[in-house]
Formats: sequence, C-alpha cells, structure tokens
Amino acid sequence: MNTLTKQFRCATDLEKNLFMRLLYPPCCISCQDTHAHDSAYLTCFCKICEKTIVLAKPPKTSGTTKDWAIFNYRGAIKNTLLKWKSQQRWDYGKKLIQYSLHALQKQSNFSLFMSSVDLIVPIPPAFFRTLKRGLHPVDYFAKSVAQEYHKKTHFKALKRIHQSRQTAHNKQDRMEQSKNLFTLHKPNKELKNAHVLIIDDIKTTGATLQAAKMQLKHYGVSKISTLVIAEVI
Ligand SMILES: [Zn+2]
Repeated sequence: MNTLTKQFRCATDLEKNLFMRLLYPPCCISCQDTHAHDSAYLTCFCKICEKTIVLAKPPKTSGTTKDWAIFNYRGAIKNTLLKWKSQQRWDYGKKLIQYSLHALQKQSNFSLFMSSVDLIVPIPPAFFRTLKRGLHPVDYFAKSVAQEYHKKTHFKALKRIHQSRQTAHNKQDRMEQSKNLFTLHKPNKELKNAHVLIIDDIKTTGATLQAAKMQLKHYGVSKISTLVIAEVI
C-alpha cells in the first residue's frame, strides 16, 4: 500500500469529502456548470438555473383527494427531466428527485395530505419507452415518495393497453385516445379500500392521469389523488 492510500484511509470523513469534492467538483444538473454552493440540498442546480425553477401552485380542492404538481414544467426542471429520460442520465434524475422531495417537504399541507394516503400507484411506462430506457423514472419517483412517507407501492396495478406515442396528438385527440389507455393488471382488495395516490413524471393535458383514475374508479376505488414532478402550464 503506498503512502497516499494509507493517508487517505486514515483521513476523517470530512477530509475525505473535501478531497473528493476537489476531484469531482459539484456540477449543475441542468447546465453542467461547476459551481460553489452553501447549502447541502442546493447542490444540484447553479444559481442561474435555480432562478428558472417555479414551484407549482398547491391544489385548489378542499376535499381529501388532491391533484399535486411540484414544479411548473419549464427551465431547469424541464431540461433535467429531458436529460434524465432521453439520455438516461440517472445521476441527474436521482438528484432531481432529492430536490423535488425537499420542495414537497416545504409545503406544509403535503405531509398532512400524505398521512391520508394508503397506497402509491405509478403510471406504467409505454412499451416503446420501456425498451429504450429500461427502468422508468416514474417508478423511481414513486419508490422515493413511498420511502420518504413510509407508504406501500403497487407497481403492477395498472397496465397499458394503448401504445400510441401520445405527444404526436393535440389535446382533444389525446383526451379521446386516453380513454382506453389502461387496464387493471393485478387489482386486489387492498387497492379497493385505499386512498390511492397515482404518480407520474410530467402532466401535459392531464389525459393520462384521467385515464388511470377512470380505471381505478371503475374498479370501485373511491379516493384517488395524483402527484407529478412537473406540470405544463
Ligand atoms: Zn446551471
């Protein structure tokens, strides 16, 4: 073992962290600029990119079920989501989820809302996306929310039955097409009596979430809420 390796092994955690940050300086996950930062959680965006991030408005409905979005789909959030999904940048994706969970914690009503949720159901990926991208970001987001709030996740509750690429259509076409987008794959009694939180990454027209809601309602689920990372405004 050479002297440098010996010294590194004997260093404290703080010294090791400082050394690793010299080797790998923090990098903005949106513009890839290396940047100085002064807060542990603000390590993933530079100050310029962070200014482009807009928190979504909290849901207006006053009942138990709510439709949440964390951010508006624009600026650094849009850029990072695109890189995560199209370039398989899981290093960016994981940091974005940490950032998103932190943003959710700051919304005081969200923790209260989550105490009424029993089960998390992620929107399943389209077939062509599964082939291209492997593990889907939505599953990772759902898993992270479930861990954070100690909730169960039912990954195979919904199954896609329509494989058309939705982005090619206008809003009206998408709403019409989405009517038969899902079927219930492995429903169970637990699902029927639960307050279900459907999770997706981006809400564009809301047609996908609406189709998932319709299937669950058809099965008899009475309480259904939704959560997305970003909503197109
Ligand atoms: Zn940046």
